[in-house]
Amino acid sequence: MSFQYDQYLEQHRGNVRRAYEWICENLPELSNGDLSANFQIQFEHDASKNNSDEYDAYDAYFYGNNRSYRVMKDYQVAWLLHLHRNPHHWQYWVLINDDPKEGEVILEMPYYYILEMICDWWSFSWSQGKLDEIFNWYDEHSKYMKLAPKTRKTVENILSRIKEKLDEIEHETR
Ligand SMILES: [Zn+2]
Repeated sequence: MSFQYDQYLEQHRGNVRRAYEWICENLPELSNGDLSANFQIQFEHDASKNNSDEYDAYDAYFYGNNRSYRVMKDYQVAWLLHLHRNPHHWQYWVLINDDPKEGEVILEMPYYYILEMICDWWSFSWSQGKLDEIFNWYDEHSKYMKLAPKTRKTVENILSRIKEKLDEIEHETR
């Protein structure tokens, strides 16, 4: 167990919670009053990162003193496990079929996982104290991310609502 990694996890979850609470307060229509989403985002975000098969590999990769080939490979396995366990990652919803004729299918994400994903992205802007950083981040990553059409529209709608509201607040406080 590493103190630094525990501290990072705590901060990250705190920032996800802060992002979500900001949305609940400023754009309540986006939070939908969905209590299970509430609980998941505020208290269960990235819970699997405490499983030892994720925790140990992440800890060694980010906070260990020797990033060997083994450490890197273990980290990649742990990251993939994390993606398979956590529906708030878009990769969770990419179905890669066995049959080449069926190929890859990108599924729509349920709304509250979209919201959790955005809070997850946004948490990094919160940790930097620069709340509009998420918009650049999204611009840089959006083409690469495999999002189903309705999911993409929802993501972009939520982001533009956040942007509008941030601009509005900034105006008020000027
Ligand atoms: Zn996650």
